[in-house]
Amino acid sequence: MELIDTHSHIYYDKYNDIDEVLDRAHENNISKIICVGVDIESSFKSLNLAEKYDMIYATAGYHPHESKDADVSYLKELEELLSHKKVVALGEIGLDFFYKHSDKKTQISVFEEQLYLAKSLNIPCIIHNRESDKELLQSINKTKNNNGVIHCFASDLKLAKKLIKLNFHLSFTGLITFVNELKNVIKNIPLDKIMVETDSPYLTPVPHRGKRNEPYMVKYVASEIAKIKNISLEDVANKTTKTAKDFFGI
Ligand SMILES: [Zn+2]
Repeated sequence: MELIDTHSHIYYDKYNDIDEVLDRAHENNISKIICVGVDIESSFKSLNLAEKYDMIYATAGYHPHESKDADVSYLKELEELLSHKKVVALGEIGLDFFYKHSDKKTQISVFEEQLYLAKSLNIPCIIHNRESDKELLQSINKTKNNNGVIHCFASDLKLAKKLIKLNFHLSFTGLITFVNELKNVIKNIPLDKIMVETDSPYLTPVPHRGKRNEPYMVKYVASEIAKIKNISLEDVANKTTKTAKDFFGI
């Protein structure tokens, strides 16, 4: 059995035990980890980890929270990062109208600029979406970029079906171990559109709520999907791993 944690932020200081974190991942059949940048600095940190460890791959992008800090040269810097062979996606990008750390207009323009960049480079996107369903669809339609995954999917079944019809993938975190509405979404969408992730250090799954999240815990997300869909864990692991390998080209 093999699982891939398709979304983590393990460059934070709280992972000063990174070798043990990766050992635990190995012991739990996690074969690869995608380490996701949220601005230029963290994208470089992700790349450093990817260069040091075989099993880690990096992404580069500007998160909606940080989009207010994107300066005139950020697209050029991202393009340079994305040319590295271990940088496998543009992300995390998107919209977040819940926290609004950056104003709406800035979020939308930085999101769309990156959707255009990803399209021109033919590289997949990792997309964050919180309380911005309508504007998400508008930006997707405007840029005509549908090569992406909606990470930590937490909206309703209606949006899930719309996004799948547009060819997007949906990825799920530990939230599904304790948010009942999401179980209904999973039950009603095809397994081959699903990927699994931890979003470490956030969103620790049951039974480890309250502790720091880390990549090996993606196994609890996969187990929960198996339970909801009434299929074996092996099936979930095989399918989601194949989807992730195809999506990221790894
Ligand atoms: Zn994230």
